[in-house]
Amino acid sequence: MSPAAEASAINEQLEEGLALLGYERFRPGQREAVETLIEEGRVLLVAPTGGGKSLTYQLPAVVLPGTTLVISPLIALMNDQVRALEERGIAATFIASTLSPDDMRERLSNLRRGQYKIVYVAPERLAFEGFRELLSQIDCPLVAVDEAHCISEWGHDFRPEYAQIGEMLALVRGSPRVIACTATATPVVRDEIVAKLGLGTDTPQHVRGFARPNLRLRAAEVSGKADRCRRVDALLAEALGGPGSDRGAAIIYSPTRRMAEEEAQRLIDAGWKAGSYHAGLSPNLRESVQRGFSNGSLEVIAATNAFGMGIDRSDVRAVIHLGPPGSIEAYYQEVGRAGRDGRDAWGLMLSAPNDMPRRRRLLESDMDGRAPDPRVIEHKWNLFLELMRWAEGGSCRHDAILRYFGDEAEALGGCGRCDVCESLDQTEQDAEEVSLLVRKALSGVARVQHKFGLNAAAKLVRGAKDERLQRAGLDQLSTYGILKEHSEDWLTRLLRRCVTAGWVGFTGGEHPLVFLTEEGITVMKGERPARLVLPPAHRPEASESRMARKRKVVASAEFSPDAKRLFDELRAWRLQLSKDEGVPPYVIA
Ligand code: ADP
Ligand code: ZN
Repeated sequence: MSPAAEASAINEQLEEGLALLGYERFRPGQREAVETLIEEGRVLLVAPTGGGKSLTYQLPAVVLPGTTLVISPLIALMNDQVRALEERGIAATFIASTLSPDDMRERLSNLRRGQYKIVYVAPERLAFEGFRELLSQIDCPLVAVDEAHCISEWGHDFRPEYAQIGEMLALVRGSPRVIACTATATPVVRDEIVAKLGLGTDTPQHVRGFARPNLRLRAAEVSGKADRCRRVDALLAEALGGPGSDRGAAIIYSPTRRMAEEEAQRLIDAGWKAGSYHAGLSPNLRESVQRGFSNGSLEVIAATNAFGMGIDRSDVRAVIHLGPPGSIEAYYQEVGRAGRDGRDAWGLMLSAPNDMPRRRRLLESDMDGRAPDPRVIEHKWNLFLELMRWAEGGSCRHDAILRYFGDEAEALGGCGRCDVCESLDQTEQDAEEVSLLVRKALSGVARVQHKFGLNAAAKLVRGAKDERLQRAGLDQLSTYGILKEHSEDWLTRLLRRCVTAGWVGFTGGEHPLVFLTEEGITVMKGERPARLVLPPAHRPEASESRMARKRKVVASAEFSPDAKRLFDELRAWRLQLSKDEGVPPYVIA
C-alpha cells in the first residue's frame, strides 16, 4: 500500500477509535491534528490546558499497531490517564521511578513483549541504558511528547531530562511518528521545541483554542496617577456597576506589592469590598483573601501576579493591569481569568511612559547576586517589546494576539468589541484615504523586502537621503518619496502597525529583514481593505478611541487654583454622599 493510501485507511478508523475512548465527537481542531500526524508523521500541537490534547495521541495510539510511548513529566497525571484507559479496556501502563523494583521489572518485560497499547514514561527513564536498549527492540509507531515546552531553555519550566528526547527518538526502531503537545505558545519556544526534537523546520504546527471572543480588550496610555485611577474607576463601573451590586468580581494586577496595597485601600475607601494579595503577605492572610474572593465576600482584588493559581470564580468581569506585565503570553494568561463563564468581560491594560525603562532595569537587575545572562535579557526584552507594540495597536487586539500565537484559524477579521475595532467604527477616518496610504507604504516594503529592514522601507517612501538606498539604486524608483508629506518617524510607526496587522513579516536572524505576507500582498493590490487605525500625529494619544480622547480633553482642562479647590471639595462631598447612600459616586454626579 502507498503511504497515502495507508494514511487514508488509518483515518477511516478514527471514528471507531474515538468511540472506543468514550467520546462522541471531536472537538474543534482535534481531527485535523490527528490526521496531520497520520499523514505527515509529525505535528506540534499547541492548545490551552484542558483543550483536549491527550486525545490527539491516545486516538492514534489505539488505531495504530504497536506500542505508543508518551513522555510526560507529570507522574500524578499519568496515573489518572492510565486508569481511565484501562477502564475502557485499553492496555496501558506507566513507567517512573516511583515504582517498586518488582513492578518495574514486570512492566518492562510486558513492554518488551508488546502487551501494551500505550505506555507513559517519565523523562528521567531515558537516561537508563537498559531502557534505551529496549527502545530499539519494541514496535513503536508513535512517540508523544507532552508538556513539550519543558525542552526549551527559554521557557519557564526547563527540564534537563527533556534534552535527551531528540536523541532518544533516533534510538526507536523504524522512525516512529512524533507529536509534541504544549500549552505554551510563544513562537520562539515553539521553534525551539521542533528544533530540539530534530523534527525539521517544516513540521506542521497546529495552534488552536486561544480565541476568547467574549473579552473586550482595551489598552491605554495614562498620563499619571489621577488619570490611572479615573480609568480604573470607569472600567469597574462599566463592568460591575458599583460596589455591592453583585455583578461579579474584578482583579487588578499591580506591578509592585506596594501599589497593590495602595490600590486596594483606595478602592475600600470608595466603598468596594476589596482586598490585596501578594507574596509578601502571611500565608494566613493570603488564604483568607483567596477565600473571600472565592465565596464572594470580596468583589475586587488588587494583587501582584502571585494571584492566579486556583482562581475558581468564573464570573470575573474585569481584569485590569495597572502596568504592563512581561510579555503578550503573560498578559493573555492573566486577562484570560476574566469571563470564564463565556459572558461579556473586560480587559484593560494601562501603561505609562516610564514602564519601558522600569522593565529594562528589572531585567538587568542582579538575581541573587549574579548578573543575568545578556542573551536572556535580550530575549525577555523582545518579548516585552512585542507587548508594547500590541498596546500601541492599530488593528484588532483580539486578532493581533491570535496572530502572535499563530492561531490564525480563529482570527475574526476584527472582533468588533475591542477599543481598536470600536474606534475604527466611530472615527471619521476616511477608509479610502487610509487604504491608499497603507498601500503606498506596503509598496515601499515590496521594494526593499528580503534586502533591508523596516527603517529602510520608511526612508524609501519618505524619500530620505540614505546612502544604502542610493547604493541599491532605490532612490531612482517611483516609490521613492511617495509619502514624503509624512515624517520618517510617523511612517515607521505606520509600518509597525502593518506588522501587528499581519501584512508585513520579518525574516529571523540578527538583522531582521522585512517582507510582505500573503495577506499584505492582497492589501497592497487593493483586493482586501486595510482596516487600520493610523498612528496619531502626537505620541501621547496612542491607541485611544475618539471618545476617550474627548473625555481626556475635558478631564485635563486647566483649573485655576480656586476652581481646583472647589472641584476637590465637591468631589469629596460626592464621595461622602455616595457612601451614605450606598451607591457609586458616579450615580450622584
Ligand atoms: P489537555 O491535555 O489539553 O490539558 P485533556 O486532554 O486532559 O486536556 O482534556 C481535557 C478534558 O476534555 C478531559 O476531561 C477530556 O476527557 C475532555 N475531552 C477531550 N476531548 C474530548 C472530546 N472530543 N469530547 C469530549 N470530551 C473531551
Ligand atoms: Zn477587535
